[in-house]
Amino acid sequence: MVHDANPALPGWRAASADMAGAIGGTPLIRLARASDATGCTILGKAEFMNPGGSVKDRAALAIITAAEQRGALKPGGTIVEGTAGNTGIGLTLVANARGYRSIIVMPETQSQEKIDFLRMIGADLRLVPAKPFRDPGNYVHVSRRIAEETGALWANQFDNTDNRDGHRATTAPEIWQQTGGRVDAFTCACGTGGTLAGVALGLGEAAVAAGVARPRIVLADPEGSGLYGWVKDNDLSVSGSSITEGIGQSRVTGNLEGITIDDAERIPDAEALDLIYDLLIQEGLSVGGSSGINVASAIRTARKLGPGKTIVTILCDGGARYQSKLFNPTFLRDRNLPVPAWLA
Ligand code: PMP
Repeated sequence: MVHDANPALPGWRAASADMAGAIGGTPLIRLARASDATGCTILGKAEFMNPGGSVKDRAALAIITAAEQRGALKPGGTIVEGTAGNTGIGLTLVANARGYRSIIVMPETQSQEKIDFLRMIGADLRLVPAKPFRDPGNYVHVSRRIAEETGALWANQFDNTDNRDGHRATTAPEIWQQTGGRVDAFTCACGTGGTLAGVALGLGEAAVAAGVARPRIVLADPEGSGLYGWVKDNDLSVSGSSITEGIGQSRVTGNLEGITIDDAERIPDAEALDLIYDLLIQEGLSVGGSSGINVASAIRTARKLGPGKTIVTILCDGGARYQSKLFNPTFLRDRNLPVPAWLA
């Protein structure tokens, strides 16, 4: 399907009451090179086009709205969260729009661009050293303790299933509509698992309602995450590491509980980086590292399924969020990663 300029205004949407109404409804883009190389249709959901620049705006809005409805968040209240950055950005923007305050706890290893942006939008930002989940100093536990000590609302995106319910109610039906219900597989990486689980649930329900087979659900996992082993061998042990941010997980989060995952792909950073450079220079799509992991997994899934299939994945956030890392020759050289020609 090709959009051309005509009076029918493709992509038209009505005015929204506030910024929250501008979250979601993102384009679904055919990725030309990935599609041509596999003979499949590989589609990327352009979540970098959300107001906060990432897929996590949806989780932030779902968590805040559900807390309001439960009476857990009162006018003028405060939301606390531990985040790799994108959820913090989404929560802070929705909080600004609705008159709440936010306290954002983030590992200091995350990109300077996300740190600067969180400060710019008025988050009360608390940077902590990066620690494993079993360590009490881990950013998730620090955020929980701040909420307990201050009486603020803890968003708890990892185990709060309002997160996946947001994707079940919005991301999944959007994908179903945008593909006319023709989705053979969906793949994405997990931080909280909210996107993968919510889309899996929502597409599964849409398929049942339409009386067709449900799409295959494939986990895309970076090195250094335990989930690939969990899906393949029920073994959460971890090896390796990744420079991607916001993805990879060492436990089965509340959002991932009870979800059927059919297959998994473990993607090395170099494979993901190659794809984000190609997407930028050859297709004009500026995306971050987790999007590269996702597109790599979509390509591998297409090769497994064979030509003619439709595979959907997520373009989680934009490349500008990682300019100082993934698009910085010094950073890449220091890690023995290839520097793309136009940056060298
Ligand atoms: N990509 C990026 C850049 C992210 O920040 C996140 C969230 N941490 C994800 C992917 C994963 O999304 P989810 O939490 O829904 O699994």
